[in-house]
Order: sequence, then C-alpha cells, then structure tokens
Amino acid sequence: MIIIMFGAPGVGKGTQAAIAAVRKNILHLSTGEAFRNAISAGTEMGNIAKNYVESGGLVPDEIVTGIVKEALQKPEYSQGAILDGFPRTLVQARSLDNMLSELGKDIKMIINITLDGEEIVQRMLKRGRQDDNEVIIRHRLNVYNEQTAPLLEYYQSTGKMVNIDGNADVETVYARINQVFPTE
Ligand code: AMP
Repeated sequence: MIIIMFGAPGVGKGTQAAIAAVRKNILHLSTGEAFRNAISAGTEMGNIAKNYVESGGLVPDEIVTGIVKEALQKPEYSQGAILDGFPRTLVQARSLDNMLSELGKDIKMIINITLDGEEIVQRMLKRGRQDDNEVIIRHRLNVYNEQTAPLLEYYQSTGKMVNIDGNADVETVYARINQVFPTE
C-alpha cells in the first residue's frame, strides 16, 4: 500500500508519517531524511545534495527519483510505504506513477496536511533544524508554492486525495489521519 503524506514544509508531515508508520506497520520513506543521512555520512550523493538541502532548494529530480526507485524495489518495501516529502514536482509525480506501474503497485491515498503559512513559519523556527532559519524557511515555502503545490491539482483529479487540517496538536492531527487511513 503506497500512501503519500503531502503538504508544505513544516505542516507536520514527517512527524505524522513516522507515527503512522509505527502504528500501521508500514515503512516510512522520507527523502529529506535520506538526504540528511547521506550528507552526514559524507557519501557522494550527500555531497551532491548538500548545497540544495542547506539552501532550501530542491535536489534535482533524477537524484530523488533514483533513491525512491531503488528503495521501492527492495523486498522490505513489498508491503508498501508511506512516502514523506516525495513527490515534490510534477516530474517526480509522473516518475512515481511509472515506477509504481512497473512494480504493479498503485497509490492508495494522498493525505494532504493543510496549515496556514505563518503558523508554518513559527513551527519551523521552533524545530531548529539546520535548514530552518527564517530566510531559508521562506524560500522553502516559495519553492513549495511554485513547484510542489501544483501537484494538488494533479492528485485531486485522481479522487484519492484527502485533506487533513494540521492546525492542532500531534495526537489530534493523527486521530484525524487515522479516521481516513485505508485499511488495505
Ligand atoms: P524535508 O525533510 O522533506 O523537509 O526535505 C529537506 C530537504 O531535502 C528539502 O528542502 C530538499 O532540499 C530536499 N528534498 C527532500 N525531498 C525532496 C524531493 N522530493 N525533491 C527534491 N528535493 C527534496
């Protein structure tokens, strides 16, 4: 079962994806996490991704789709995954469709967590990650609005997208997600 946890940076999708993964027993695949790990391990991919991640830009589509494709082909992902932070561009969304159809899989649901822009900035400032200073945060939100938000229309048209109000504490938002989360 492939679930996409969608939303602007800072809406809580990483937190919710991690909780849902444990409670629903599905693997959590976070591309942002994969990049942060590769950067701290100093791998070749990490060195390429470093500037993009630290400046709040998007890592090139080929690199990101390569990581996701490699992961989804592994046996441990045969039961599916909760995708967090991917796809972020239309090119990535189309690549995902292609790789899933090659694997005989399908997107089950897109969970779109919504949150007001200023609330996002405040939350991210509290998070204190290295790419979370105010200038970079605003840049990441612009990148989201320009390159990622158009995916909402793409996924809306599939009829598989569910909107979740992210403006509440972690357990309340999770309860909202749990209500719509597919059973199989
Ligand atoms: P995240 O943890 O999802 O907020 O991602 C942190 C950073 O990793 C982003 O600001 C991007 O630089 C990079 N990144 C993560 N996922 C993607 C993606 N699907 N496409 C391009 N860049 C990504």
